[in-house]
Amino acid sequence: MTMTHSGDGAAQAAANTEALIARRRQLLGPAYRLFYDQPLHLVRGEGVWLYDAQGKPYLDAYNNVVPLGHCHPAVVEAIARQASTLNTHTRYVHETVLDYAEALLATYAPGPGHVMFTCTGSEANDLALRIAQAHTGAAGLIVTRHAYHGVTLSIAQASPSLGRYVTLGPAVRTVAAPDSYRQAPGETGPALARAVREAIADLARHGLRPAALMVDTIFSSDGVQAGPAGFLREAVDAIHEAGGLFIADEVQAGMGRTGETLWGYMRHGVAPDLITMGKPLGNGHPVAGVAARPQVLEAFGRNSRYFNTFGGNPVSAAAGLAVLRTVQQEGLMQNAGRVGAYLRERLQGLAARHDLIGDVRGAGLFIGVELVRDRATREPATEQAARVVNGLRDRQVLISSAGEHANTLKIRPPLPFSTADADRLVAALDETLAAL
Ligand code: PMP
Repeated sequence: MTMTHSGDGAAQAAANTEALIARRRQLLGPAYRLFYDQPLHLVRGEGVWLYDAQGKPYLDAYNNVVPLGHCHPAVVEAIARQASTLNTHTRYVHETVLDYAEALLATYAPGPGHVMFTCTGSEANDLALRIAQAHTGAAGLIVTRHAYHGVTLSIAQASPSLGRYVTLGPAVRTVAAPDSYRQAPGETGPALARAVREAIADLARHGLRPAALMVDTIFSSDGVQAGPAGFLREAVDAIHEAGGLFIADEVQAGMGRTGETLWGYMRHGVAPDLITMGKPLGNGHPVAGVAARPQVLEAFGRNSRYFNTFGGNPVSAAAGLAVLRTVQQEGLMQNAGRVGAYLRERLQGLAARHDLIGDVRGAGLFIGVELVRDRATREPATEQAARVVNGLRDRQVLISSAGEHANTLKIRPPLPFSTADADRLVAALDETLAAL
């Protein structure tokens, strides 16, 4: 797959990328981060492939923002058609946002009866928190210890993975994330529920009540914690007993990625009060939102008005509808289940040859490969994980890492990923691990 370049061409390309990086830093400022020791300058995408400025192909095993694959014609066409007809907002009546809401609501049934639209997952979580606080009259929010839920002030303050310089909100409490690799079988659910109860007790000691427990239903930033399916149930019971709501953050897990169900919470057999969605909904176009049980939305709706200039606009709604229909028509959730199982099995096979691999886990095409320095102590292999991610990039396969110690390889390709793509990924990983 590696394309050959003349030495001059490669040197010129590297110089161009360096110049773009310098320009970027000057224009966009110091807060942005790039992937990889050698950042990529990508110019085109198609299906599961991305192409750099020299036309060099990269197998995309990372971007869950494009569940249908890059530049899927159904979405491109839907966006182009609506953009050339009309684009306004939800202060005017329009069918498409209603068709989209209806189609989304059908996917949760039985479940929420309303859906509100935003542009980003952060906004969706921010709105869900406001709705939960209005419904419960409480302020407390419980999240996992290395959670990421977004960038607004209230949500950044509930995103401990942003690091120690982003302070948690006074009503935010964290609980240890599930860790099926280190917990005894059967302990994952009870441990999480116990931690949630302790967090509720700690809120009470500070005169606070919980508005909600918010979790990413695949625990992506916590290192990809998918199983055992069902472990969320007791924690959801615990928050309900204390009068709080359960917010399922589906920004990572949603839209069929986990293979068995369209939404991650469904694998756990729980009924969320609020469901927040983002990333994969628009296949790259900003589409996000919150689904709510009508009773939960009642207090917020009575006391607040809601208008989001871009959320739910006709072009975004057309994109969202095209994505949902294509996932269903092309059987992409089923493909994620089938190819994901195949890929996990092949990764388990690699573990027989590479001691660095401590655990292979996941659901569908959301996979975590935890690297450890020692299988007995399970000490995280943070530095090795970074080298693997960069080594794969050099072999033209794109992934990243996750978890509190950044030692879990995060594999999350577009859903049309094939078994041949999986083989290519495994071969590159095998080579990379052997070369460490
Ligand atoms: N929730 C989760 C679980 C996420 O992973 C992210 C984004 N990485 C967000 C919320 C925020 O979404 P956005 O970047 O669209 O604001």
